[in-house]
Amino acid sequence: METYHGKSVLQGIALGKLYVIEKKESTWTKMTVADTESEAARFQAARKEAMEQLDELYQEAMEQVGEENAMIFDVHKMMLEDLDYLETIENRIRTESVNAEYAVTVTGEEFSAVFSSMDDDYMKARAADVLDISGRVVRVLEGREEPGLHTKEPVIILADDLSPSETIAMDKTKILAFVTKQGSANSHTAILARSLNIPSLVNTDVEITKAYHGKEAIVDGVSGSLIIEPDAATLEAKRQEQAEIREREEKLKLLIGQDNVTADGRRIHLYANMGNVEDVEKVLANDAGGIGLFRSEFLYLGRDTFPTEEEQFQAYKEVISRMGGKKVIIRTLDIGADKKADYFELDAEENPALGFRAIRICLTRQEIFRTQLRAIYRASAFGTAAIMFPMIISVEEIRRIKAIVEDVKAELTGEGIAFGEVELGIMIETPAAALVSGELAKEVAFFSIGTNDLTQYTLAIDRQNQKLEPFYDAHHPAVLKLIEMTIHNGHKEGAWVGICGELAADDTLTETFLDMGLDELSVSPVYILKLRDKIRHIGM
Ligand code: PEP
Ligand code: MG
Repeated sequence: METYHGKSVLQGIALGKLYVIEKKESTWTKMTVADTESEAARFQAARKEAMEQLDELYQEAMEQVGEENAMIFDVHKMMLEDLDYLETIENRIRTESVNAEYAVTVTGEEFSAVFSSMDDDYMKARAADVLDISGRVVRVLEGREEPGLHTKEPVIILADDLSPSETIAMDKTKILAFVTKQGSANSHTAILARSLNIPSLVNTDVEITKAYHGKEAIVDGVSGSLIIEPDAATLEAKRQEQAEIREREEKLKLLIGQDNVTADGRRIHLYANMGNVEDVEKVLANDAGGIGLFRSEFLYLGRDTFPTEEEQFQAYKEVISRMGGKKVIIRTLDIGADKKADYFELDAEENPALGFRAIRICLTRQEIFRTQLRAIYRASAFGTAAIMFPMIISVEEIRRIKAIVEDVKAELTGEGIAFGEVELGIMIETPAAALVSGELAKEVAFFSIGTNDLTQYTLAIDRQNQKLEPFYDAHHPAVLKLIEMTIHNGHKEGAWVGICGELAADDTLTETFLDMGLDELSVSPVYILKLRDKIRHIGM
C-alpha cells in the first residue's frame, strides 16, 4: 500500500483502477539515413499499426457515438491508403535519404496546404485530417501513445497534468476521479472536475509511471490522499466513508423544491455553473433556480474546427428548452489563457492571462462573435436566455458589444427568425471593472462577479501556478472590498448582482455575501443543496 498527498478539488471518495496517462513529447529531428529501404519499411510498419488503431477507434466510436460520427475514422483510413500520399512519402525517404518522421510530416503539411487552398468546403475540411493522420503515423514511429482515454470500465486517471481541452475530449462516464501531479485548484480542469462531481486531486506528490497502470486505488478527496493498492482494512474503511458521504447527499435531496431563504427571511437565487450540454442533467437533479454561468467556450474545446452556428444553436436550444423557462445565462466565448484550441491559431504570448483572450478576441475577430450571438439569439426563442460578456474593462467595450448585438438582432429580424427577450450582463472579473462598476451598471441589466479571475488580477497571482497557491487568498480584504463595491454600485443603478466564481460555493462566506446584499450565487451543481442547507440555517 502506497499513500500520496495532493490538493483536493472536490470532497468525495472514488475506488477503482488507475489509468496512467504518460505524455511523451515528440522529439524527432530531420536525419539522414543510409539504409533507405529499411526506413521505407519502418514507415510501412507504422502505417499498418496506424490503420489498426483507426479500426479500433472506428469500433469504439460506433458503440459510443454512432456511425455518423465514426465515419471520420473510415475517412482517415482511406487517406492512409491513398497512393499519391504514400508514394510521396516513400519517394521522399528514398530520394532525399531522410527519416520517415520527417518525410511523413513534410508530406502531410504539403497535402494539407493543397486541401486548404481548394474551393470545395468538403475538401478544405480534409486539410486537418491529413495533418491528423500524419501525426498519428509519426506518433507510432516515435513509440508515443494515442492521447485520450481508451477503456471500457470507469477508471481513476493519473496524469502529470491535464488541459481543459484534453479533459473535455474524454468520455466522462469513464472517469471515477482525476489525480494530477501538476495543476492548481483554480484551473479550469479543476473547475471541470467539480462540475462533473468527480473527486480529484491536483499537485500530488506521486510519480507518474506506467507501473501503476491497472492497479487498484482510492482517491480520498476528504483527506486529499491517493492510496495505491490499499490493504483490506483501508479499503473497508474507505468504502464505509464513501457510503456515509452518499447518505449525506441523499439527505440533502430532501431540500429539493425548498426556498433559498434564511431563518430571518432573506432570499438569494442559487444558480448552477455548467460547461457541457450534458451537465444540464445535474443542474436539474440538484434543483438549481437557473444557470448562472454556461461556459460556452467548452463547446469550442476538444475539437479541430469552429463549431458552426447550427451546432451552437442546437446546444443552446437543448439547454434552454430543458431548463423550462428558468434563466440560462450564457457567457460568450472566453477562450485564451489555459483554454486553448489550436484552430484559433492564436500567437504564443509571454503573459497569456493578460493577453489576447475572451472579449478581446470576440471584438477583434467579430465573425466568431457574431456566429455565437446569432446562435444564442435563435435559441432564446425556446425559453429564457441571458448573455454575459467576460473580461470587460470599460464602458467603451460594452457600447461596442451592444452595437454588434443590435446588428445581429436586426439581421435575424430581416431574415424572419424569431428570438426572445435577452437580458445582457457582464462579468466583473478585472479590478478595472469593479472600480468603474458604477458606470458599467448604467449599461447592463446585471453583473456576475468572476472571483477566480478577479482574485488573480487583484492579487497579481497566476491562478494556474501551483507554486503560488499558498499566496492565492480568495478571502483577501481587497477582493472582498471589490465585491462589496460592485454590489453597491450595481444596485444603485438597478442592476442585479451575482457571483459565479468558485468563491460562491465557499459556505464560510455565504452570510457575508447575504449581508452585502448579493442577489445570486452560481455554483457547480454539486454545491447547490449544500448551500441551500447552509442558507436555511442562517439567522436561526
Ligand atoms: C471567474 O473568473 O471567476 C469565472 C467564473 O470565469 P472562469 O473561471 O471561467 O475564468
Ligand atoms: Mg474568468
